[in-house]
Formats: sequence, structure tokens, C-alpha cells
Amino acid sequence: MKMLSVLKTYFGYSEFRPYQKEVIQKIIDGRDCLVVMATGSGKSLCYQVPPLVVEKTAIVVSPLISLMQDQVMSLKQRGIRAEYLGSAQNDPTAQSKAETGHFHLLFLTPEKACLLPTSFWEKLLKAGICLFAVDEAHCISEWGHDFRVEYKKLDKLRGILLDVPFVGLTATATEKVRTDIVTSLNMKDPYVAIGSFDRKNLFYGVKHFNPSQLFLDELVQEISKFVATSGSSIIYCTTVKDVEQIFSLLQQVGINAGIYHGQMGSKAREECHRLFIRDELPVMVATVAFGMGIDKPDIRHVIHYGCPKNLESYYQETGRCGRDGMPSVCWLYYTRSDFAKADFYCRESKNDNHRRHIKESLMAAQHYCLLTTCRRKFLLGHFGETLSADNCGNCDNCLTSRTERNMSMEAFLLLACIKSCGGNWGLNMPVDVLRGSRSKKILDAQFDKLPLHGLGKSYASNWWKALAYQLISYGYLMETSKDVYRTIRISPKGEQFLNSAKYDHQPPLVLPLTSEMVDDEE
Ligand code: ADP
Ligand code: ZN
Repeated sequence: MKMLSVLKTYFGYSEFRPYQKEVIQKIIDGRDCLVVMATGSGKSLCYQVPPLVVEKTAIVVSPLISLMQDQVMSLKQRGIRAEYLGSAQNDPTAQSKAETGHFHLLFLTPEKACLLPTSFWEKLLKAGICLFAVDEAHCISEWGHDFRVEYKKLDKLRGILLDVPFVGLTATATEKVRTDIVTSLNMKDPYVAIGSFDRKNLFYGVKHFNPSQLFLDELVQEISKFVATSGSSIIYCTTVKDVEQIFSLLQQVGINAGIYHGQMGSKAREECHRLFIRDELPVMVATVAFGMGIDKPDIRHVIHYGCPKNLESYYQETGRCGRDGMPSVCWLYYTRSDFAKADFYCRESKNDNHRRHIKESLMAAQHYCLLTTCRRKFLLGHFGETLSADNCGNCDNCLTSRTERNMSMEAFLLLACIKSCGGNWGLNMPVDVLRGSRSKKILDAQFDKLPLHGLGKSYASNWWKALAYQLISYGYLMETSKDVYRTIRISPKGEQFLNSAKYDHQPPLVLPLTSEMVDDEE
């Protein structure tokens, strides 16, 4: 059967979405593929169609049994022969059926894929394998946000399945992760399909809060409003403690919410998941453990209560809303102490590079929080995609006008201080110098002798950081990576500002105030 008739007959769709046809064709031609597309864009079809066209088995490695169960069930309903094998489950009939090439799609956990004997693969190769897909392929990379050791071992199958095209699929788009997938799976000259990550129907917004009962009451009120409208909501919290707190607050006001975190038993978790999918619970309060495989089209709100660890997982989590293309809303609430959690997140990391990576990822999330320019542009930019317009018309910064103020003096101080410190530091050093710190680092570098030392005492260090992020957004400062350290430097535009400011030739530098800055000055 031809591709298009498979699409119509089995899936009931009349046309392919961007990249689907190309990827399917390349797979049929026998080429390795890397498919990087946003959640909900239709990656699964790329490995579901080829086995039906060429009548050979497709192997799909997927990290979660629940994900596989759902897929197998819906494929069976379409009349497609599909089955899954997990390591715990030991169904000899399914396995022996599989090796004869009975199934169009055979889903395996990574553990199971590595445990299957060579004889199994040899038999199945004779019957015909049309592709070996690795779903959620970012799990293979330590630079991804969901590294899984078992994924690393998949490359040994490459040696057995010599001429089978390998297909990596992920919604995580950073360059590092992409390269890692290609090398870890030993891909040969893969066809790379990178879709747009822009989800135009999602509104992005950020709010700063000071932890207090008052704030919690406001949050609960906000969530009540969501519940009053149609569709469902997810509230992501950074800790189990927060999940439990928000959950009980919602219960107190009579909101029927579900709860989901890693410390619950798997039965209770699955039950909540099911009720949420079936619209019996309008709200789910969860840690990020509530993740992959939430294929619910009408999630309208994703709230992050607390700054996420990194933007990769943040974008994937927010991507779970509005899959049906209808307008949906993503709010992030952060509090200042969120930014100080890097050391806490690093506690389990054994190597320096990895610790730096964790810190940098959090810095990027912090930058996102403190942004006064388009959030969408920044997020997409983080994934290497350029949005041509400066105003997306669908984020808080593009939709609200902020109070603006002449910040020439403050910007001058900060730029001059960064320059005086010599350009080999991150943001903390110059800010600490401005604030007049006498830490050992500062005394050792003799920065306490700088004329600027202590001149910025009247603002909190987060205020200065917020200003710095603005100066980055507006092109006065640049962040550069040196090895894996981020350093901050003056851009040519910043140099020009510094020079003309000295002679008072510069028009005033007017910048919008971030909510951080406003709160600080209250
Ligand atoms: P991803 O794996 O990229 O997150 P899915 O493969 O789960 O996305 O697809 C998301 C939704 O889009 C599914 O409901 C799927 O049936 C639908 N879909 C996929 N391809 C098409 C298509 N060509 N036409 C219409 N709907 C599609
Ligand atoms: Zn915008």
C-alpha cells in the first residue's frame, strides 16, 4: 500500500503534516533519521506508517510501559497488529509471535531491547525489520533533562541490526542533545528533520511572587477560575511538599483535583492519571514526574509553581497544553529563592561538567523569568529557532506595557563594573562588587579597591541581575561560554554606550521595569 492510502485507511487523515512524508520516505529508503519536533506535532506517525507500507516489523523503544500500553491499544483499534514487551512482563507467546514478524509494531522498553537474545533478532531480521525507532531519544543524552542509563546501551543493537534504519525521535531540541543522540546511536549520515517549535496558540507569561498566605489564596482563586471554564489544568510544583500543600488548599475550597508525584504508589498514580484523562478531575497537581504520555488534547492551562530547573523540560511541560490547537495558557510563578537552588540540584551530580551544566540550565530559566522582551522569541531562540518578529502578540511582555524608566545611570554603573572586573566573570562577581561585598573572592582580586565598589548598595542583587538580563536582551551585554563556564562581557553596543555616557552624549537609556525590580523598590 502507498503512504497516502495507509494514512487514510488506518489513521483517517487526508494529508501529512510537515516532515512526516519526508521522514517516512527516508525510512523506507533505508536511511537513519533524527526527528526533532515539538510535542503534539505528530512524530509517532513517522514510525507507524512505514511498517504498514512495506509489511515489515517496526521496533519502537519507549521509556514507559504506560506509554506503550496506550499506543498499542489505539493501534489495535485501528486494525494494526501491535504489541509491547517489557522486562517484567514475560509473555513467551507474544515474543515468539514477534520473532516471526507477526506484528507491524513491536514496542520494547530499553531494558527489554537489550535483554532479547541475538537469536530473537536473527529470526526477526529474516522475517523483516523496517526500522528501529528510539522514542524520547533525548533520554540517551546526559545533557538532556531526562537521562536514562538503559538508553545508553541501545547502541549495541546497532551491531546486530546492521542495515536497519535507526530513527531517533524527540521534542528536545538543543544542539548538544541532538549531536549526542546521533553519536550515541551510531547513526550514519542521518536525515535530520527539525520542525518549528513555535506553538502559536500558547500564551506564555511569568509572575513573581513572595511566598505568603495571601499569595496562595490568590493562586487558589486563579485556579478556581480555570476550573470554571472548560478544559483541564496542570499545576506543576518543584517539590512533593508543594504538591501536597497546593493539593490540600484546593481541596479546602472544594476543587476536585488529582495529585501525582514520585513518592506515591504506582497504583494511586495511575488512577489519578486515568481520572484526569477521562475528565473526572479538572486539575492535576503534580511534580514533573507527571510527564510523558499525557496525550490529552484539551489541557487549557499549565501553571508552574516555582521556577523550573531548565527550559528544555519547561517547554516540554507547557507543550502539553493546547494540543487541539485552541488558545491555551502557560503561567510560570517564581519566587526569588528558586534561583538559589542550583547547589541543591547539583547534590547528586558526581562530575564537574555536569554540575556546571545544571547551573547553566538554571541560569537560563532565571533569565527567562526576568525577561522584559518577548518570551516566545527567547524560548525559541534557546532552541536555535529565530522568530523574525520582535512582538509575538501572545506573551505577557508583548501584551502588556510596563512602566519604563531612565536607567542610564544604573546601566552605566553595571557596565562599568563588569568592565573593571576584567570580563572573566559571570554575573555574580560584578553585582557583588557593586553591592560592596567583602567576600574572600573580592578581597583576593582586590576589587574592594575599585572606585565602583559599593556604589550600587541601594539595590538588591536580584535587581542588578534583572537589569543585567535586560541589558543582554537589548544587546548591551553578551553572555559567552568559555569551556562550560558562562561569562558576561560588554558588547560593542555596550562599549559605545559607556564611552558616550562619559561625555554625556548618549540619549537616555529607557528600559521597562521588571516585576522583580518593582517589588524590590516597594
Ligand atoms: P508527538 O509524538 O509528536 O507528541 P503524536 O504523534 O502523539 O505527537 O501526534 C499528536 C496528534 O496529532 C495525535 O492525536 C495524532 O493522531 C495527530 N496527527 C498526527 N499526524 C497527523 C496528520 N497527518 N493529520 C492529522 N492529525 C495528525
Ligand atoms: Zn511575545
